[in-house]
Amino acid sequence: MSVFKNKTILSILDYYKNLWALSYVSGVAHWDLETYMPAKGAGPRGEALGRLSVIRQKMFLDKDFVSLIHKAEKDKTLNDQEKAVVRVMLRALKFYTRLPSDFVEKFEKVTNIGTVVWREAKEKDDFKIFEETLSQIFEMNKEMADHLGYKDSPYDALLDQFEEGLTVREVSNFFDTIKSPLSGLLVKIKKSDNYNKSHFLERQAYDKEKLAKLNQKILKLFWEDFGRFRLDVSSHPFTTSFSNTDTRITTWYHKEDFARSLLATVHEFGHALYDLQSSPDLEMTPIAGGSSLVIHESQSRFWENFVGRSESFIKKFLPDMQSAVHDSQLTVDSVSAYFNKVSPSLLRVEADEVTYHFHIMLRAEIEKGLIEGKLKVKDLPEIWNGLMKEYLGVTPKKDSEGVLQDVHWSGGMVGYFPTYSLGTFLGAQWEKEISQIANFKSQSLISNIKTIENYLKEHIHKYGSTYTLQELLVKNNMKFDPTVNLKYLEEKYSKIYDF
Ligand code: MG
Repeated sequence: MSVFKNKTILSILDYYKNLWALSYVSGVAHWDLETYMPAKGAGPRGEALGRLSVIRQKMFLDKDFVSLIHKAEKDKTLNDQEKAVVRVMLRALKFYTRLPSDFVEKFEKVTNIGTVVWREAKEKDDFKIFEETLSQIFEMNKEMADHLGYKDSPYDALLDQFEEGLTVREVSNFFDTIKSPLSGLLVKIKKSDNYNKSHFLERQAYDKEKLAKLNQKILKLFWEDFGRFRLDVSSHPFTTSFSNTDTRITTWYHKEDFARSLLATVHEFGHALYDLQSSPDLEMTPIAGGSSLVIHESQSRFWENFVGRSESFIKKFLPDMQSAVHDSQLTVDSVSAYFNKVSPSLLRVEADEVTYHFHIMLRAEIEKGLIEGKLKVKDLPEIWNGLMKEYLGVTPKKDSEGVLQDVHWSGGMVGYFPTYSLGTFLGAQWEKEISQIANFKSQSLISNIKTIENYLKEHIHKYGSTYTLQELLVKNNMKFDPTVNLKYLEEKYSKIYDF
């Protein structure tokens, strides 16, 4: 029996299937673009995807459909899932109606070109190439904030696009809470006799075929049903879900440093599991799968940090790791030191559990400054390098290792970064909850995978996007508490670094 019973909601869901179908084919086309499409297919693919999004917007704004949404909005008899359908549809409606169509079209064009220009600037290591486009992108984001509306800061309107209701005040409070404890922790780590800037496995070449097999083996252990799930390769790892019976992840391979590939696979699995365990009742509705980026990232980080970096995980797959790097002497201790090494570095995607958040603070500070008109795009390389020096004591020698390293801004995404840190911190809170039924420090953790997955299904995944982040926390008798992750980091790294 479906959870949806209200007549208006059923009419909304019936029409919504058309929108869902368009998203579905766009999703497949996008996945293909990132994985198997020949490079020269990019032009027509971009055109097709652009047209599909215009068709979708038109279909969404159908008068009868919009009036159904407004009718349901007034209905006081809706259950949680039905209310959520209205919430998600109203949110989409807000974006579609407040942003003028010529603005949307221009934004789409500027950000499509933006990514190409950014790539060239990064390859040539020259910020100047990207400067003008980036200025335009930030100007357009300011304009977008004005269209969408906000109370305190225009940055609020942008944050809200990625995490419903998230505000500058919350983000600033969060960073104020974590900044000095993390700095203090980093100082202690760097003073330790066990502190090393690098680990030999970071430079150790690996056998790609063997590592690919290992990635499959790990995923088979986590999720047996490969009839609903698959792994491919892309230039940057991601997860996409077409349905609860067809969810896909990608990983990446470099010539050395095998942890980057394995931990990316485990991370993306965390995202995929959310969609795989979302209730089948919600399929083809606007609330299938997770829409809160903070909740989503709390899942991926939970798997990466608490399962992937655990001794139990390393022990289980040690023979495969030994074989992949042709080193039969490799020990659990050595791999564990490698997986859990802390040291300041230039690139966000390579950062450890402690220094990662400084990379995010820096980006959030810059985004806020630019959107509020307090900083200028032309000064970014200098501002970036200054903050890196201040926060992490390292200075990029090239823009490609500095201000040009991330793709987000070139694609128009301003306000996304804070969800990475918030999600990571929330991930530690799930660990604390689950640790009452599964021991993360125990050798048998890896044989408790099903217990962990069931917990996540019952407390988070099965609801899809029924609840907002705040509502989901209330439902689980929790509240967002950054001290949980801070305490975990302090305990873990005081042992590793002996202080
Ligand atoms: Mg992620």
